[in-house]
Amino acid sequence: MFAIASLVFASSAVQSVPIKLDVDATDIGRNIIRVVEELPATDLVRFPKWMPGDHAPDGPLRNAIMFHAFADGKEIKWRRDGVDLYDIHLDIPQGAQRLRLEFIDGEAIGDVATSLLGRIKWGHAIFLPKGPVDRIPVRVTLKVPTGWQAFDSLPFKRMGDTLQFEDTNAERLIDSPVMMGKYAASYPAGEGHELDIVGDDPKNVAISPETVSGMKNIVDETLAVWGAKHYNSYKWLLTVSNFGAFDGLEHNECSEDGVGADGIMGGLTNSGLADLLCHEYTHSWNGKYRRPAGLSTPDYATPQQGELLWVYEGMTQYWGYILPARAGFWNAEHLHDVIAADAARLAIKDGRKWKSTADTAVAASIDRHPSAPWALATRGQDYYQEGVLLWVGIDATLRRLTNGQKNLNDFCHLFGGGQNTGPEIVSYTREDIVRLLNQVAPYDWAGYIQKMVYDVHPTPTTEGLEMAGWRLVFNSTPGPVGGHFYDLGMDVGSDGMINDMLIGSAADQAKVAPGMKILTVNNKPFSDGNLNDAVTAGMKPGNPIVLEVVKDDVVSVVRIDYTGGLKYAHLEAIPGATDYLSQIATPVVKHDNPK
Ligand SMILES: [Zn+2]
Repeated sequence: MFAIASLVFASSAVQSVPIKLDVDATDIGRNIIRVVEELPATDLVRFPKWMPGDHAPDGPLRNAIMFHAFADGKEIKWRRDGVDLYDIHLDIPQGAQRLRLEFIDGEAIGDVATSLLGRIKWGHAIFLPKGPVDRIPVRVTLKVPTGWQAFDSLPFKRMGDTLQFEDTNAERLIDSPVMMGKYAASYPAGEGHELDIVGDDPKNVAISPETVSGMKNIVDETLAVWGAKHYNSYKWLLTVSNFGAFDGLEHNECSEDGVGADGIMGGLTNSGLADLLCHEYTHSWNGKYRRPAGLSTPDYATPQQGELLWVYEGMTQYWGYILPARAGFWNAEHLHDVIAADAARLAIKDGRKWKSTADTAVAASIDRHPSAPWALATRGQDYYQEGVLLWVGIDATLRRLTNGQKNLNDFCHLFGGGQNTGPEIVSYTREDIVRLLNQVAPYDWAGYIQKMVYDVHPTPTTEGLEMAGWRLVFNSTPGPVGGHFYDLGMDVGSDGMINDMLIGSAADQAKVAPGMKILTVNNKPFSDGNLNDAVTAGMKPGNPIVLEVVKDDVVSVVRIDYTGGLKYAHLEAIPGATDYLSQIATPVVKHDNPK
């Protein structure tokens, strides 16, 4: 079933008088954003809760502080709902016309701003009346710190330090965050596309002409995947700072991207930033334009259902790896290492013995927390990386079934192409995905997706990778993907801290616990080298790995009996198989490789 919700302000608006929102961000460097909001009188306002792209009911309600409400100029009482804390009841006198809200969006240190740059996430700075959010008109001004530059996909006029935005509706406003900063630069990346950067230091916003030309490659390659676009213009809003405003959040006409200063050094060559920029850009189609039915909600109070995140995030994760390769930023070795790292981490997870990938998507809102315990057993956000293994198999199989005539680009043309349009939302179901795949090439797609995503799949999900001509291997050849997960069964930081542990592993049998810090290894001080030596020495029977560890000020000794030697993950070409992965990574559009 298709539901089309136009983001263009509809004539059948439930509310015709716009919300007037005046935001003062001149103190954003101190994490204080002052809001004055005027709207037609109503006895209930809601703080946005299910924020699009967060996949969780995590709108930062705690940030809304110093809240006061006024009806026709006179202060009135308010009361928080006892069940839904995001709802605020207002004691509106009969006949009152205008409601004014005054509050502070008090942000946590480093979340959206540093002393020299910041973001306005409109969903943190507005209360909404009931009703479909694309039918609530808004008229917005923003005052920025003197001398700071500002960027937004929503057009605005600047008068001094005040920005007056084009009239819009609440959904489009919240999908159009502002990025601003003292040090800023803007790089055009082909018709209507722009990489905008703010940083804590002038040198953080400077990128090379080669990187700029590479951004054009990303645009060309991404447009070749989809065949049409659904935005008027597109901006990457990138913050580069060692102090905060890290981000990765998709919007229809822009994305909020944020990295530390190291993240942009060396440009995008074999970098995680190339993945981030391609991932968030892909979301303009996969997630914002085409949206799972369960995530296409009329407002931010309605709970979102994450089941189809294996498409929304899973296929996006896949393109986040393939597009940097096609655009010339990633070489084959880097692509293989990134996929090997994901496949290996997924392969060893004990959680795959009890829950499906689909369940990680359904449970996204509770498992997204970065410090959630026992992430290997809950599987965390596996629908991202499992998506890479799923969609590489679909891409390879489409190529095999059609003798190289069709591939995943053809599916994406059907799924998210068509005519160029402005921002729109078109919802879809699991059945739509299967139907469109069959339209490209008939196959048991329903069965493949059932097995890879919906069934509990205790063995590694490497079928898709093998369809593309490659397999995951673990051996003692040093590589970037090690860290003692694949041998001892524990994740050891460079400081000796054991961050996580696999249930059923050699480390588990030795009663290792997350939170232990290794002090000594076979009576030598802890170091990566000494631990590696001990694992290698342990291959000879009778040489257990003896660790002195401390946790909660209790020092103890654990003996790990493990004889398997060091294990690193690699991708290895399957002899005699067609190398579809290399075909997939080949540019579709002719261009020079960026340096
Ligand atoms: Zn994403």
